[in-house]
Amino acid sequence: MSFDYLIIGGGISGIHIGALLSQHGKVIILEKRHEIGGRARVEHVKGFKLDYGVHPIRFGPQGALGESLLELNRSVSFVKPGTSWAFLNNGKKTVFPTGGLMAIVRSSMVPFISTLKLLLKVKKMEERGFQELYNTSLEDWFEQENIRPELRKFLIMTSSAIQVNPFPERSSAGELLHNIKRVLEIGSIYYPKGGWESIFSQFIQSIEKNSGVIKTRSEVKEIIIENGKAIGVQLNDEIIKAAEIICTIPVQKLFSILDESLCRKNFIKKCKNLRPTAGISIDFLLDKKISEIDGMIFFEEPLSFGFIPSNLSPEITPENKSLMSFLQIVNLEDITDRNRADELYQEFRKHISKFFPKIDTYLIEERPLFLDMVDGVEVNICQHQFERPANQIEGISNLWLCGDSVGGEGAGGDVGHTSVRKCYNKIINSDV
Ligand SMILES: Cc1cc2nc3c(=O)[nH]c(=O)nc-3n(C[C@H](O)[C@H](O)[C@H](O)COP(=O)(O)OP(=O)(O)OC[C@H]3O[C@@H](n4cnc5c(N)ncnc54)[C@H](O)[C@@H]3O)c2cc1C
Repeated sequence: MSFDYLIIGGGISGIHIGALLSQHGKVIILEKRHEIGGRARVEHVKGFKLDYGVHPIRFGPQGALGESLLELNRSVSFVKPGTSWAFLNNGKKTVFPTGGLMAIVRSSMVPFISTLKLLLKVKKMEERGFQELYNTSLEDWFEQENIRPELRKFLIMTSSAIQVNPFPERSSAGELLHNIKRVLEIGSIYYPKGGWESIFSQFIQSIEKNSGVIKTRSEVKEIIIENGKAIGVQLNDEIIKAAEIICTIPVQKLFSILDESLCRKNFIKKCKNLRPTAGISIDFLLDKKISEIDGMIFFEEPLSFGFIPSNLSPEITPENKSLMSFLQIVNLEDITDRNRADELYQEFRKHISKFFPKIDTYLIEERPLFLDMVDGVEVNICQHQFERPANQIEGISNLWLCGDSVGGEGAGGDVGHTSVRKCYNKIINSDV
């Protein structure tokens, strides 16, 4: 059987682009696991619908994801979080300024006038201004601009949340400022009512309506290339052919299914050496609500963040129960050393219980995750959006790349969604 579009990977990027392409032709999505979802999969535990750790959505209906839902005539109810809080080393908590004037006034974390000045400056900056700083680290930029220490702390925390990079020595100043401008212009994060399942279900309904096929337990072993053109894929015991092949697996793994000798050396090196973000995630399933916080929660030390998705969408837990999720981004090297990872987890957990001691009283279950890949790519000075692989590979036609490790604005799922839309538009236009 032959298809118009064959998609490798049933994570959010694969399901997203599958829904879009199913409007234009016959789609098949191949996922190696027994379930779809990838790093955004949802697990059902004791009546709780558990996203894969902290999973709000940057820009919700205003971003690339929202654009696709609109195009597909599908809708997800996005809930806007309330006030975000920072828990500081001195044991106190203060409002975390997320851009709004009132939040800056109410926060004891930042000096009012200089924060306002900085945000106004960023709002006025043009694309060229950001691009000039893409290769500059946050640390170097602080020195260049003589940024005050309190503002530095706020910007590092913002970098950890917006671009999932708490490391100022390699976080890209240009990309951070660009992302802050996007927050100021189109809003911050949202949470989908009903959790991530509601997003997957909207895309799946579109795929099914257009007679698309989603096959789980179907691992692609090789992308078949003939005379420089992708023509199909090899599974364990069958070959499936398609006019266009779209690969959504993180590019670090691309050469497990694509013959290296077909690609240029610098492209291979770029893909293999791309640094992902790594982290420790902890979800607490609680017997009752222990905090009313409905915005993000930031910790100063260890630099980390979290939120309480059930305060935004109570449907994801059984009645009157609560789900709290936290994430600490760490160096990949730390997560691969099991003892070090365990040490970091114990410290992180102790820190969370210091500020939320009732967690231990009402704990039903705890899910720690040690992740060697949170986002497909760490947004940093060496691999900002213009340095990452693009949607096509030189010398191979009819093969497309998208997902959260290729070029695209933002970080994590945001990169995935923007890269999907970019790739989709190119495929559709190349068909015409
Ligand atoms: C703890 C945690 C917290 C996060 N928080 C957020 C957040 O708050 N906001 C946000 O936007 N993003 C967040 N992210 C990132 C987000 O989950 C990812 O960006 C997104 O899920 C990536 O989707 P993807 O489809 O591009 O890749 P993946 O999810 O990796 O999907 C690739 C799929 O391909 C499959 N596959 C691999 N090889 C093959 C093969 N050979 N054949 C067939 N199938 C194959 C895999 O099984 C997988 O299902 C978070 C991630 C984690 C882990």
